[in-house]
Amino acid sequence: MSSAIINGKEIGQEIRGSVAKQVEELKAKGVTPGLAVVLVGNNPASKTYVTNKQKSCEAIGMYSELITLPETISEQQLLEHIRELNERNDIHGILVQLPLPKHINEDSVIATISPDKDVDGFAPISVGKMMLGQETYLPCTPYGVMKLLEHSGIEVAGKHAVIVGRSHIVGKPMGQLLLQKDATVTYTHSKTPDLPSFTKQADILIAAVGRANFITAEHVKEGAVVIDVGINRDEDNHLCGDVDFAAVDGIASHITPVPGGVGPMTITMLLANTVQAAAKTVQP
Ligand code: NDP
Repeated sequence: MSSAIINGKEIGQEIRGSVAKQVEELKAKGVTPGLAVVLVGNNPASKTYVTNKQKSCEAIGMYSELITLPETISEQQLLEHIRELNERNDIHGILVQLPLPKHINEDSVIATISPDKDVDGFAPISVGKMMLGQETYLPCTPYGVMKLLEHSGIEVAGKHAVIVGRSHIVGKPMGQLLLQKDATVTYTHSKTPDLPSFTKQADILIAAVGRANFITAEHVKEGAVVIDVGINRDEDNHLCGDVDFAAVDGIASHITPVPGGVGPMTITMLLANTVQAAAKTVQP
């Protein structure tokens, strides 16, 4: 029997519908949620991501502003732009598209975003609050994965979740969010010996590696839930995930496709975080 598909496109649309209603309610109170997206340089992939984010904002009635800056901008000049955005009342969320040019320290830039506007949830204060289980903006991709699990009726408490990948933006926060929902969490990474011996224990397996079709049948336990965060190109230049879908289909109980799984959830949660930031500026 085939694995059940977790449809991120549908779940994302459903959540965007309720976020759009919140936008209407805020507008009725005189506040239009606004997202500023800062793009430095001409990276074509970054341009595509930024355009998608802007279109998604506009589709639900939010304001979005693109700040395009030259590759040669100095770190100080970029920090000045961010400080200006921190002060603006019409901007509730600030997103700096990564990667930045090599001469700019990404950590300094991210740390300059006001915690009240850090809708990507990457700044040290947001990460610290997340670790402590305090209210904050959660990083959009892991937050989106939690929503996928919730909307699919998949119980997390008491399950063994194994994460492949430990990046700051996906793997590490993913484990924290699952831990907070009472999963037992194992992190694996490039130095993990005998990876399948770990991943085979997973009730919930999260692949955030960045390698096309890396997770195969030997990594997956019968009946596991498999979440594929990867966005890669295979040798034929087709979009694919970190999971070899055909090999794992039928072994996993549930699986996310690529495209149409985790991808649509990342932007959805960015919209949700920005609307939450805007709502905080409204007096009760
Ligand atoms: P990174 O390159 O930052 O991290 C990859 C992780 O995978 C690292 O922790 C690395 O280990 C680990 N890894 C690499 N090779 C192996 C291996 N052979 N065995 C076990 N672990 C390994 O990537 P990201 O976390 O930023 O992204 C991961 C994937 O998710 C990419 O395909 C990216 O495009 C995609 N992505 C998708 C998003 C979405 O919206 N769907 C959003 C963000 C990312 P180590 O730390 O030891 O180097």
